[in-house]
Amino acid sequence: MSRSVRVVWDDALTSYDFGPGHPLAPVRVELTMALARRLGVLDAVDVAGCVPATDDELALVHKRDYVDAVKRASVAGRPDHVYGLGTEDTPAFAGMHEASALITGATLAAARAVLSGEAEHAVNVAGGLHHAMPGAASGFCVYNDPAVAIAWLLAQGVSRVAYVDVDVHHGDGVQAAFYDDPRVLTVSLHESPRTLFPGTGFPEERGAEGTAVNVALPAGCGDGGWLRAFHAVVPPLLREFAPEILLTQHGCDSHALDPLAHLMLSLDGQRAAYAALHELAHETAGGRWIVTGGGGYELVQVVPRAWTHLIAEVSGHPLAPSTPTPPEWRRFVEERTGETAPLTLTDGRIPEFRDFSAGYDPADPIDRAIMATRKAVFPFHGLDPLP
Ligand SMILES: [Zn+2]
Ligand SMILES: [Zn+2]
Repeated sequence: MSRSVRVVWDDALTSYDFGPGHPLAPVRVELTMALARRLGVLDAVDVAGCVPATDDELALVHKRDYVDAVKRASVAGRPDHVYGLGTEDTPAFAGMHEASALITGATLAAARAVLSGEAEHAVNVAGGLHHAMPGAASGFCVYNDPAVAIAWLLAQGVSRVAYVDVDVHHGDGVQAAFYDDPRVLTVSLHESPRTLFPGTGFPEERGAEGTAVNVALPAGCGDGGWLRAFHAVVPPLLREFAPEILLTQHGCDSHALDPLAHLMLSLDGQRAAYAALHELAHETAGGRWIVTGGGGYELVQVVPRAWTHLIAEVSGHPLAPSTPTPPEWRRFVEERTGETAPLTLTDGRIPEFRDFSAGYDPADPIDRAIMATRKAVFPFHGLDPLP
């Protein structure tokens, strides 16, 4: 169903590395690309390199004095706490500016390929650094590659971009960049800010004309509840908004095994979300779809399998959940990490959900979360909050 698909990759993308012991370890994308390659997923796509974002491109979102501060911090030992650099979450490292600008450059390369029509869909699994703010680093994120790509698309004359963020954390940096801009619809589904970083993403944060959308799910929510919420909110809004381009962020830290958060999704539930977004890209955005990675801190058991499914879905050749992992890849995982690799691409779950249109239960915390979001934003889009 997909004309041509671009995967942007350069081994130097793994130089975005906060050092030993930091949760965001680049081995996760290394293992992902190795698994995708071994399973033949990359044979069905066009793999292309990228160049770092320029200062002018970064300045589409970021303040110049902040970019200068990142460059100073890039010389080891000179972090500037005023800009959120040199913290426990976002420590400074040598080459930080270059590594961060390359990740943004990779998402820009994906955006260019889709806007020019060279590719129908394009993926940067190293991207999705959604917490970076215009003037500060935050939550492991230095430059906000999805926000810069969206701002670049607008600067090229695109009039409506939709951003859907399925990371377990609120996509606060992207929301902040476009909060007052009705040309950009930002939708984030995440664990409630009451129990998780960054403490924002309440349904009442609705931006200009209801174009900031937040679904705050209770800790413990699993595949069925998550998919019920997704389908109750995302498709109707995308259909009404009718974006020219869809950009999606695929943090897989919503998985039950993720050490930093408390949702209970399985790989199979995440895979179902990828398929739903793929269908919506064709239905609502003419197939123009830019895809990024995001969070995900179970580096061996979750991230490589989740994003291999993601790339396969984007390529138009989804992998069966029962697909075994190749023995060569398992050996590579064990050599590289000392951990035992997973044997198949499934958690053995069947991701089923009850559709919200069949009615809701006001006593159910997931249904209350869904209704809070629909009440906050649906009227702006001419939609009825009631099912
Ligand atoms: Zn497609
Ligand atoms: Zn996250």
